[in-house]
Amino acid sequence: MLALCDLRVSYGAIEVVHGISLDVAAGECVALIGANGAGKSSTLKAICGLVPVGSGSVQFEGRDITNASGHAIVRAGITMCPEGRQVFPQMSVIQNLRMGAYTRTDKDQDADLVRMMDMFPILRERQTQAAGKLSGGEQEMLAIARALMARPRICLFDEPSLGLAPKIVASVFETLAQIKAMGMTILLVEQNSMMALNLADRAYLFEAGKIVMQGPAKELKSHPDVMRAYLGH
Ligand code: ATP
Repeated sequence: MLALCDLRVSYGAIEVVHGISLDVAAGECVALIGANGAGKSSTLKAICGLVPVGSGSVQFEGRDITNASGHAIVRAGITMCPEGRQVFPQMSVIQNLRMGAYTRTDKDQDADLVRMMDMFPILRERQTQAAGKLSGGEQEMLAIARALMARPRICLFDEPSLGLAPKIVASVFETLAQIKAMGMTILLVEQNSMMALNLADRAYLFEAGKIVMQGPAKELKSHPDVMRAYLGH
């Protein structure tokens, strides 16, 4: 479904992603793991058109979308649930959800709104409240639901566990497992390598802007180098 080929990303003169290639098949959950600053978020942002691709390509369902504009990429079926949630703080929960469906022209948006509130009952309870007043965990649920409101073909999650208490992190990952079970294709960037590898089918390990290991999540989880450096064993 998604294929990156020899992708390079720079901020000004500094290159931070040094020619990575990876792919995600339809229905797969793929995790990008690795230390802070390894280039995982920059890779997601380059896929979404939020930072420019220096060289290399992004192919999505057989189309070259390299350096397409962000809104065209959303319309093509790629949605990002961003790091730090980035809900619209002054807008209500419902308005945030409707913003997720902004590019849709079909008539099923109200039905999807109900589905999202069935899936996340807390959003129904808080539907008229300003999103900025929600707790971090509630905002993460809202950001996930807002992403799903776009009815994406693939959903990219950037650090969904960031800054959340362990109990809330567990419930975020339960939600991601539920979304995966619904058949959604997922590309996940996550610092919590154990959680990510438990959820994912396959994973790529990033180090200093390069992919240094890849394979089935189960294999990475039991690899001695990964266990030592990222899983605390
Ligand atoms: P993190 O978990 O911290 O987000 P990451 O693996 O996702 O880590 P990136 O956020 O992609 O890493 O960062 C890769 C490198 O790019 C880092 O050295 C970071 O400091 C740098 N970087 C990220 N965003 C910018 C920016 N807007 N301007 C300049 N440098 C940036």
